[in-house]
Amino acid sequence: MAKPRVGVLALQGDFEAHGKALARAGAQPVEVRTAEELNSVDGLIIPGGESTTMLKLLNYMELLEPLREFGGNKPIFGTCAGAILLAEQVTNPEQMSLSLMNIGVQRNAYGRQLDSRIVHIGSSDQQRLPGDIEAVFIRAPIIKWVGGQARVLAEYNGDPVLVEQGRHLVATFHPELTTDPRVHALFVAKIKDSAPTA
Ligand code: GLN
Repeated sequence: MAKPRVGVLALQGDFEAHGKALARAGAQPVEVRTAEELNSVDGLIIPGGESTTMLKLLNYMELLEPLREFGGNKPIFGTCAGAILLAEQVTNPEQMSLSLMNIGVQRNAYGRQLDSRIVHIGSSDQQRLPGDIEAVFIRAPIIKWVGGQARVLAEYNGDPVLVEQGRHLVATFHPELTTDPRVHALFVAKIKDSAPTA
């Protein structure tokens, strides 16, 4: 797979910035709004935005079940609201989710919009993500627990902010809002790794 086709769920939120970040990371971005488009891609990013609104739209577009099935064998990267949708448990308030990763998240846990911030974090996997990562948080959730096969790749203030579980990845920050393509490149590498060999 020379250049994977990576979908970006484009119902709501900051999907355009993800498209640019994917191109920088060597993938071909594809906007996804239908089950047909979903089935044409090798991996998917669920962007930040507003998870309750996104859920409503997914329901209306009858995309929840196709997304669950897609996640059953292809990689999904959820950022912020996308991470909330991938979690097993959502609180503040409770909300249904795709439950594709063994994590529990608390929504809007860092306070209101004004408390959004940019920080520098270090990853616990210096081989795949060496050096500093600039992390932009916007009304981010906090990952309250990590279970099963989920593995923490980076923390901020003692809370996990970048977590992987097999083919899936979540970030509570917004790597698409910086020019550093490495977090997207890490996801593209996962897509290449999980592709069936012909
Ligand atoms: N606060 C939003 C939610 O709970 C997520 C914020 C974001 O994606 N930047 O859905």
